[in-house]
Amino acid sequence: MPEYICGVDLGGTKINTGIIDYNGNVLESIKVLTNAQEGAEAGINRICESILQVLKLTGLQIRDLKGIGIGSPGPLDTKKGIILYTSNLPGWGNIHIIDIIKEKLKIPVKIINDANAAALGEFLFGEGRGINNLLYVTISTGIGGGAVIGGKLYGGANSNAVEIGHMTIDINGPKCGCGNYGCFEALASGTAIARFAKNFIESGRDSQIKFLSGNEPIRAEHVFEAARNKDKLALEIIDREAFYLGVGIANLINLYNPQRIVLGGGVSNELEMFYEKMIDTIRKRALKSNVDICEIVKTKLGSDIGIIGAASQFIL
Ligand SMILES: [Zn+2]
Repeated sequence: MPEYICGVDLGGTKINTGIIDYNGNVLESIKVLTNAQEGAEAGINRICESILQVLKLTGLQIRDLKGIGIGSPGPLDTKKGIILYTSNLPGWGNIHIIDIIKEKLKIPVKIINDANAAALGEFLFGEGRGINNLLYVTISTGIGGGAVIGGKLYGGANSNAVEIGHMTIDINGPKCGCGNYGCFEALASGTAIARFAKNFIESGRDSQIKFLSGNEPIRAEHVFEAARNKDKLALEIIDREAFYLGVGIANLINLYNPQRIVLGGGVSNELEMFYEKMIDTIRKRALKSNVDICEIVKTKLGSDIGIIGAASQFIL
């Protein structure tokens, strides 16, 4: 009887592959670059090689695995096992990823949206244990989400539910990668933080963000670093982040009435810097009945959440 599962966290820049046991412990994991521009075939070969490599590290064989769970950026057709299209993986449109990996490794394979995978991982092994009405929100390059409703992962009609990054927050806001304007992720993702900083600096605002980024493009990390040094512009941008996150999360609290929201993704590592102002906005904008019952916490599963969540498809 197989006692282990392989989880693959497929991202735009790297592929994280690991083996977990049924208690959510990661035995071994490895990271390789996705090199998405080389196309889907080369990328899927890298996934298969990573699986074999990580098995070797654990001393296990393919037959010791119950299956391979993949977490991928969406939208997907999870039933057919297809990546439909995704801006993070250019050239990977309409790829029957499950069939290809099944054919190569002769083992069951499942695919799920990466944020839904993380919600599942939190529900089974993380901050969402025992919480039947749970939301997971990742704030990173983009913004994504997953919802556990009544103890079950909510997929929607074709498993593309909870695409919270693309709910409209400001009808006159900046254009989003999806084509819409003023989406949550166009205003509150790490990419949005960096873009606001770049625009202010180009318009002549003085800030140490420019010095901290040197010759590199400005990233959200530079803004947080400057804010820690009390840089005026950086602090303004962090306040703006707190406000937009607060507006978005207030909508989610009204809509889903969750008992807990778990925040993940790179920007959430800096939660302390914007937590209070974000909560102020949430309290002003969401229904008291829904706010009072909802806790907002940070993930403790770290960067392994992607692997654990993807593999969790074989546990529920
Ligand atoms: Zn959008």
